[in-house]
Amino acid sequence: MRQENTEEPGRRIIAKAKEFGADLAGIANIGELKTSPSHIISEKLPEYDGEGTKNVAGRRRGRVEWPEEARSALVIAVAHPPGKPEMDWWVSGNKSGNTPGNRILMRIASELADYLEKKEGLQCFKLPYYIEYGGVYMKDAAVLAGLGCMGKNNLFLTPEFGPRVRLRVMLTDADLPSAGKRDFDPCTDCSMPCRDACPQNAFAEKIYSKAEYGLSQLPGRSGVFSRLRCNREMQNNNAAFETVSMEGREKPGRRVKYCRECEFACPVGSV
Ligand code: SF4
Ligand code: SF4
Repeated sequence: MRQENTEEPGRRIIAKAKEFGADLAGIANIGELKTSPSHIISEKLPEYDGEGTKNVAGRRRGRVEWPEEARSALVIAVAHPPGKPEMDWWVSGNKSGNTPGNRILMRIASELADYLEKKEGLQCFKLPYYIEYGGVYMKDAAVLAGLGCMGKNNLFLTPEFGPRVRLRVMLTDADLPSAGKRDFDPCTDCSMPCRDACPQNAFAEKIYSKAEYGLSQLPGRSGVFSRLRCNREMQNNNAAFETVSMEGREKPGRRVKYCRECEFACPVGSV
């Protein structure tokens, strides 16, 4: 459904997302999102098979497939304070979302979609986390939605919460404008404790170049982020799993606590 007044619905939607529990919310137009750095570079990179990707028959890993009717992306952000590490603890075999933080985001997205469909007559596409299951590159959407910027730790940063924030994206058929990039960049004059904190030296060398990829906005901002090294740490984290009992299930689950060192080292934000 197309909207006549494109600004007013956007404000209403953002207010509703916050009412349902989002700490931050914003809108990115799909046309712009399709040409954002991660969506472009993912097509140019060799196919990558690691933590955070899924193997789906007939589908290239890392390639986004857009619903034809989708026009805007609604970005929902929830703060992840250091005092609540369990929000990110990954428990396998949990069908309703593998982390508590993910379940909060899923609940907000679900209530927002329900409201928008029933009260605003919009079509909503609730997206999963994984690209191969239908997701999009959420950090790019959050930048375009005016919520923050990409940091030198390759994480999404907001003025309010630094990198300690979790994202979810939902698409709609309302053709709304992007808020646009926020005037915020705490990395420029920072001594980069985030990079020093990495146990795998994932920011140690240049992996991607502007000449090779035709992009100035590169992973780690200057092309220095090695997802292979980060993946190595995630594999270590997987191997160090803890066994936990699962409600309603005989078999125990596996709980994994993934590395967040580059996140905790960043001084930006109030949490
Ligand atoms: S520690 Fe500094 S360089 Fe790293 S993400 Fe935070 S502000 Fe940016
Ligand atoms: S998550 Fe851990 S291993 Fe990965 S880049 Fe950050 S500090 Fe390095």
